[in-house]
Amino acid sequence: MRILLVEDDPQLGDGICVGLKQAGHAVDWLESGRAALHTLATELFDLMILDLGLPDIDGISVLKEIRRDGKSLPVLILTARDTVMDKVEGLDSGADDYLVKPFDLDELCARVRALIRRQAGRSSALIQHGNITLDPAGHTVLLDNQAIPLSAREFNILHTLLENSGRVLSRERLEESLYGWDDPLESNATEVHIHHLRKKLGKKLIVTVRGVGYMIAKATHQPSTTPS
Ligand code: CA
Repeated sequence: MRILLVEDDPQLGDGICVGLKQAGHAVDWLESGRAALHTLATELFDLMILDLGLPDIDGISVLKEIRRDGKSLPVLILTARDTVMDKVEGLDSGADDYLVKPFDLDELCARVRALIRRQAGRSSALIQHGNITLDPAGHTVLLDNQAIPLSAREFNILHTLLENSGRVLSRERLEESLYGWDDPLESNATEVHIHHLRKKLGKKLIVTVRGVGYMIAKATHQPSTTPS
């Protein structure tokens, strides 16, 4: 998933970036509210982590403005402001979650997973699609209950396609969930990853919609046994 982090503390921002990348996300990091608004006007993210005390405009103003613009991406406020009134204001301004500093990175990652899950309309932590089970927390994929090793990028593409089941995603949209600004963009990389996914998980799993993009095929059968 592609995450926008807005945080002006260099040390904290760096730590969060490293942690989220280790959890398999593509992370773009900005240090001011204006930069966040500017970027959100043109780029797509699956989630935003937003500090409130920013050097130019306050995080609450950023949040209110993007909600006014009709942007529905999940927003997690990450701040040192810890009063009940602060939390109420944050949530009522359009935040989906609120985490107070200091925090534990594992908890942040779990909240990110929960927000992405909810955005996709899912209550279960595991994504089940026919005979495939994807575990976003454990970063594992099972095919007929057998673990299938995937590269980090293959996993990300599959995860994004499964979270958007029923929708066609353009190559650009898939690439946005794969790469942060710092990562080199390889040409044809997405096609190559899709090719590998089909080889590992079945060639009918991912459908190419000519001229538009890719989508996950409708699940044809249920798993033979329920994973424990
Ligand atoms: Ca701050």
